[in-house]
Amino acid sequence: MDKIYFDNAATTPLDPEVIAAMLPWMQEHHGNPSAVHGFGRTARAGIEQARRKVAELLNCAPGEIVFTSGGTEADNMALMGSVRDLGVRHIITSPVEHHAVELTAHALGHTSPAQVHWVRLEADGRPDLAHLEELLRTHPKALVSLMHANNELGTRVDLEAVGRLCRRYGALFHSDTVQTMGHYRFDLAALPVDFITASAHKFHGPKGIGFLYMRSDATLKPMILGGSQERNMRAGTENIYGIVGLAKAMEIAYRDLDEHVHHVQGLKERMKQRLKDGIPGVSFNGDSGSDSLYTVLSVNFPDDGKSEMLIYNMDIEGIACSGGSACSSGSNKGSHVMAALYPAQTGANIRFSFSKFNTPAEVDRVVEVLQRVLAVAAVKA
Ligand code: PLP
Repeated sequence: MDKIYFDNAATTPLDPEVIAAMLPWMQEHHGNPSAVHGFGRTARAGIEQARRKVAELLNCAPGEIVFTSGGTEADNMALMGSVRDLGVRHIITSPVEHHAVELTAHALGHTSPAQVHWVRLEADGRPDLAHLEELLRTHPKALVSLMHANNELGTRVDLEAVGRLCRRYGALFHSDTVQTMGHYRFDLAALPVDFITASAHKFHGPKGIGFLYMRSDATLKPMILGGSQERNMRAGTENIYGIVGLAKAMEIAYRDLDEHVHHVQGLKERMKQRLKDGIPGVSFNGDSGSDSLYTVLSVNFPDDGKSEMLIYNMDIEGIACSGGSACSSGSNKGSHVMAALYPAQTGANIRFSFSKFNTPAEVDRVVEVLQRVLAVAAVKA
């Protein structure tokens, strides 16, 4: 029986084309990019070519892209750097942000001159823009940090609308775009954002590499001190094969985007329909409509008390799905996102997340197995 991987919001499998692009940088070009000899210059050229590729795809300047160890580091840099280097005294964010933003905001609220304000949410997890405006009006020198798409719910935020509000009130705007980079197009010359953050392993690139986009007039100072790597923005010998792999993964994502959206959106729609037809009482968390993140479907199964049991039973059948974000599994705390949005909810929440490597036949099998597993659970209860 083939295994089925429906946990692509946690991480995606590497694309074979990405592996092929990375291999020469593991096997042949081993120079240190800071070295002046030919080996070093080749490595430096590989990094700068990757940076130019990413910048070209996003329509920004290469100097505005800083490679990091992933989304978490990039989010930390945007929030901490804005307070330390850009005079931010108010952080306006939401209770359903990824922990990389949420916990960083909490920490800054305790350890820096900045105060944190939590924007109210609409029923589907979107920020209430009227409340955001009220917060912006009364709190100057603000950084707004709102994620583009929620990794647990799939609810998507209108970056244009939030960005325009931020511009009107002179606030900086950071958006965690970790779940949407490689899945949507961005035109950073037009989009009113100052920082966005990305992670290659969410779009079939390698783990341990991501980037911070930093608008040229919102330049931060480095957080990691030492050498002059990353144009003085991040010390430490660069993860060259990661950087090359990230750029290749983005190139592929953009090249195949329309086909990819069509295929993955189709899987999500099929899954929704099969679940509605086959499992009584099932409902969908957050926004699961046509505007939502097409890779994520968050489902509530009303009759089964424990997400963990359901995930274990699916795992025994060779199916990988998740109870929320991978980052929160393993702790007993459950999901801060579900707690913020649905404090009184019962039942089991399961997140199914899809990629270009999944098929309609896999969707059908997952729903069949769910029907079986839930029926078993109902008999035992
Ligand atoms: N932000 C979001 C929305 C995520 O989903 C994740 C990963 O789960 C991260 C940030 C963290 O990214 P990384 O794993 O590259 O540190």
